[in-house]
Amino acid sequence: MIELLVETTNLPGDGREFSFDEQRIWADPIAEFHLPYRIAEPFSAVIRVVPHADGCTVEGTLRGSLVLSCDRCVEEFTYPVTAEFHEFEAYPGGDSRNDAPSDVWWVVAKDGLHYLDVAGFLWEQFQLALPEKPLCTVLCRGMCAECGANKNLDECRCAASGSDPRLAAFHSMKLS
Ligand SMILES: [Zn+2]
Ligand SMILES: [Zn+2]
Repeated sequence: MIELLVETTNLPGDGREFSFDEQRIWADPIAEFHLPYRIAEPFSAVIRVVPHADGCTVEGTLRGSLVLSCDRCVEEFTYPVTAEFHEFEAYPGGDSRNDAPSDVWWVVAKDGLHYLDVAGFLWEQFQLALPEKPLCTVLCRGMCAECGANKNLDECRCAASGSDPRLAAFHSMKLS
């Protein structure tokens, strides 16, 4: 994963806007973790970072598209990814309410300054925007459990019971 840090301590009070279109933010972890999808349209993100005493807010949008494979029929399809986010990133060890390590995500403290780990933050937002079970369409009919045909393209013969004596024998075996 690439290192991409934005120094947050000295930002103007109303924050500053940053844009990112470095594909390695997303492409590196996809390759590193051998994830089952690839980038179709390049990703880009626009974020506004606003400093506070004990952390910073990060709001913005993330866009691009992926080639995913359908959870039902395993065909590949293009999935547009758009995410809008508004997060508070606490500074580590600031005050008592931020002591739990689980509260500290994408802020790094170095030489008395705080930095937002933008690559980590944008990778997390990307992951949150992905569907748990990607479907090529909500009406996808999936694959036939018996012959493996893609039922969106073809009416396989398995459904027509009794049309094939070999399958009829198979069915009666399963039932007994
Ligand atoms: Zn499908
Ligand atoms: Zn079939």
